[in-house]
Amino acid sequence: MVTASTTTAPATQVWTIGTTSVARVGEQIGFASFPPEQFFPDLDRALLERHRAWLVPDHYSPEHDRLVTSVHSWLIRTPRHTILVDCCGGNHKERPGAPRFHRLDTPWLEHLRAAGATPEDIDIVLCTHLHADHVGWNTQLRDGRWVPTFPRAKYLFSRRENEFGDPRRNPVADADPQRGPAYRDSVLPVIEAGQAVLIDGAHAIDDAMLVEPAAGHTPGHVVLKLADRGERALFCGDALHHPLQVYAPHWNSRFCELPEEARVTRRRLLGHCAGDGALLFPVHFGAPHVAAIAAAGEAFALRFVPGRSHG
Ligand SMILES: [Zn+2]
Repeated sequence: MVTASTTTAPATQVWTIGTTSVARVGEQIGFASFPPEQFFPDLDRALLERHRAWLVPDHYSPEHDRLVTSVHSWLIRTPRHTILVDCCGGNHKERPGAPRFHRLDTPWLEHLRAAGATPEDIDIVLCTHLHADHVGWNTQLRDGRWVPTFPRAKYLFSRRENEFGDPRRNPVADADPQRGPAYRDSVLPVIEAGQAVLIDGAHAIDDAMLVEPAAGHTPGHVVLKLADRGERALFCGDALHHPLQVYAPHWNSRFCELPEEARVTRRRLLGHCAGDGALLFPVHFGAPHVAAIAAAGEAFALRFVPGRSHG
């Protein structure tokens, strides 16, 4: 795997949904670790070629024949809450099975500060699921121990995801390089610190924000719906990995653990965005990262919605 670039103090991109601001906190932008056909076993080259004009260079590199993906968190600020959705790969984690996340040393915390928040400001962390690239900054290394990065935060985890992902209870998770080590250094210390809240079914954070089950990519995957003054956003985690899946919602990534449910959920979420006008905020789309969705025959189409630069 070759990383195209690691973000270095970029201007923060910010979107506004009603009275709520959403900032992207970037960790890395680079090449997917596998060729397109391995990343998406259902991939149809003809579709990639048809969309090539806008895919290059932010979503596909023809020179390397690799999809380009981002890894970032979303910082959501309402008058009442400061919320972080998904926590990237984190620093200094041992991930020998995943070179893109092995022993990283990125300025993600500086990017968080540039977006206007300190770790102490975060009152809620939501992990859409417990794969290694979504839990990393849950913890940081301090005096040889993994401790929660956000001392005041409650961390919301799906109970189903927590049960499936706990390598002490599930040998499948123990053997999975996406799960076992990440659970031990990035989830368990949060639970042991008493900062985890395990949620079942739908969970209202407040009047504007609702966490909902969206199983498929993983058994306990959840999404966050935001509605504020008639404007909407959907934080979809890894229900989609790449913008081409908007045009081909039946494509699963190699990492989707429940393939049939993943397809149904992806279609349902895209239908929600198209029908209710919710902007789509995925974790891995390349720049400009956020899209409006419209129905288009059997599938969907997207229009990117760039944020405004801040800082
Ligand atoms: Zn992911």
